[in-house]
Amino acid sequence: MLQIDLTGKRALIMGVTNRRSLGWSIAAKLHAAGAELAFSYQGERLKGELEKLTKDIPTARLYQVDVTEEDQLKAVFADLADVWGTIDYLVHAIAFAPREAMEGRYIDTSRDDWVTALEISAYSLVAIAREAEPLFTEGSSMVTLTYYAAEKVVPKYNVMGVAKSALEASVRYLAYDLGKKGFRINAVSAGPVKTVAARSIPGFMKMYKRVAAVSPLGRQVDQEDVGNLGVFLLSPMAGGITGETIYVDAGFHVMGMDLGDD
Ligand code: NAD
Repeated sequence: MLQIDLTGKRALIMGVTNRRSLGWSIAAKLHAAGAELAFSYQGERLKGELEKLTKDIPTARLYQVDVTEEDQLKAVFADLADVWGTIDYLVHAIAFAPREAMEGRYIDTSRDDWVTALEISAYSLVAIAREAEPLFTEGSSMVTLTYYAAEKVVPKYNVMGVAKSALEASVRYLAYDLGKKGFRINAVSAGPVKTVAARSIPGFMKMYKRVAAVSPLGRQVDQEDVGNLGVFLLSPMAGGITGETIYVDAGFHVMGMDLGDD
């Protein structure tokens, strides 16, 4: 298999819960390519799992960052400025919406739930890009994770679909801002993959099965597929790509109609 060499590069991955996390799937590929890694996790209860995951990566640095806490966000970049000086790659793998906002009708989304979902799932990318920009260096790039419900209605995804639309639009605006310095940002739009966040979406298993039934490749995607696209987009191999949302969904989104088996 083609292996990208990222020896000497430094990457911060934000939003890893366990080995199923899409952030971890990209981190594992970055590690295999030789990059040095730092991770952020949301709260103390996730620290032990991340310590276990990274036990064979002695140089890994771990930071606790809840993206709604401005001081925690600033602290990780201040520390990385001290110890690393520069950041080559950044992975944003963070999303949240209150469960009640994904159970009923979108029309019933409360103001608080709407603001929470958009703040954590979309605004955090802007805040992180702003903190990271001074540490970026030649060839630096970012990726975030998004989903098809940003473009089309996926029942129950509700406010998270709206947050993903804001996220994808932010990728385009951030690409314009960062591009002036040669830095890049792209979104990986992954088909359903079994992770903690995914399993909290009502009806997730139906979505998961539907992809294999309808997509041209006739299968689901997995962490391996997502990791490969993530590391490609970060790497110099994608040096001419920015502001894009690129799908890794076994081709599901190209289908306009499903007529069942011939
Ligand atoms: P995950 O549960 O492993 O990761 C989500 C992460 O978001 C968790 O680590 C959680 O701690 C973090 N997070 C939530 N609120 C936070 C906050 N306030 N501060 C800091 N971190 C916070 O699940 P995942 O599926 O790997 O999700 C990663 C990204 O991939 C998300 O943006 C998700 O929407 C996206 N995505 C997932 C799928 C899928 O099917 N799993 C498909 C497309 C896109």
